[in-house]
Amino acid sequence: MKTVLFAVLLCVSSFSCAQETPTAIHVSKMKPAKDLKNIKVVNAEDPICHMKTADFLKDTADYKGKKYGFCSEHCKAEFKKNPEKYAKIAK
Ligand SMILES: [Zn+2]
Repeated sequence: MKTVLFAVLLCVSSFSCAQETPTAIHVSKMKPAKDLKNIKVVNAEDPICHMKTADFLKDTADYKGKKYGFCSEHCKAEFKKNPEKYAKIAK
């Protein structure tokens, strides 16, 4: 039963991450979460899905003293699986 729940969660979070090409209207409507607004992250793009962290920052992770931003918990989880690889391509 837990496996099913996990699969559903993963599906939902991947879906929220799949919006890589939002329209201009979409972008202006989507503001970063309030509590993350003033947080500076080293990457302008989510290294997992390449969404702009300035517009879509929802979660952060610290790696080797740097703070990386992600559009979702799913991307952060993906980063933590292989931080070395993703830190290298983060920009
Ligand atoms: Zn993402």
